[in-house]
Amino acid sequence: MPRRPRVVSNVPALRRAVARWREAHQTIVLVPTMGALHDGHLSLVRLARRRGRRVVVSIFVNPAQFAPTEDFASYPRTFEADLAALAEIGVDLVWAPTAETMYASGFATRIVPEGPAKVGLEDAFRPHFFAGVATVVAKLLIQCAPDLAVFGEKDYQQLKVITQLAADLDLPAKIVGAPIVREADGLAMSSRNVYLSAPQRAAAPTLYRVLCQCAAAIARGEHIARVLDQGGAEIERAGFQLDYLEARDATTLQKVESAAAGPLRLLVAARIGSTRLIDNIAV
Ligand code: AMP
Repeated sequence: MPRRPRVVSNVPALRRAVARWREAHQTIVLVPTMGALHDGHLSLVRLARRRGRRVVVSIFVNPAQFAPTEDFASYPRTFEADLAALAEIGVDLVWAPTAETMYASGFATRIVPEGPAKVGLEDAFRPHFFAGVATVVAKLLIQCAPDLAVFGEKDYQQLKVITQLAADLDLPAKIVGAPIVREADGLAMSSRNVYLSAPQRAAAPTLYRVLCQCAAAIARGEHIARVLDQGGAEIERAGFQLDYLEARDATTLQKVESAAAGPLRLLVAARIGSTRLIDNIAV
């Protein structure tokens, strides 16, 4: 049986572990997660393994990034199974702070990102989300002081927000993006997929299928707005309520007039029943 990774839940213990590795000039890679680990998360951990000598995985369901109407209380929590999965890969440390450790009583600081956090995608539907993410990720990067931190392209806008955050705050960690891991039928893996009923699960791969169709049509030179209108309609026919399906500049996430502008990214968010799914793809 692989050995259960060491778990620390207070900042001084984390700092002691990291300081020893730093003194030994070992490259430290952080993989932030909210647990309920699936193969998408584990691919990030494997990438981290390849990129550094020491791997820290954080597991923290961050209350600050959930709106009161969202699923913080019911968010899946599978800590023991997460540790077993991480033991298989081999990680050096699991950083599992309590909410009180992250947000001590009297906590009064919030990082409110702009730029890629204000482009009218996730931010339009989850107005407090990126402040919650930026604040917790800044804390994690300061606590762990990694050389690299790995984030999934699954949350593409989040990856851009965090890259900007690290640059703007002179956080020394290099932010590394990792490709999206999908189920065999194309559905992007997500901890929230467990919420889907059988018929919803059967409809869910529509998102990726439509993204692929739209990307191919745009690459062929078809009119972007028309392609996205048709794609959106197809997503709604499958039983989703569409929040957005958009083509954006792949770097800035700004709106684009034509595919000639440079590399594009298609991003989608849609709700089926009470579950909200997001996905994205390069054109
Ligand atoms: P979460 O636990 O949902 O906050 O995700 C933790 C990290 O895993 C984030 O950087 C996500 O972008 C990444 N991630 C989640 N799902 C996937 C996936 N299917 N493929 C690649 N990365 C993912």
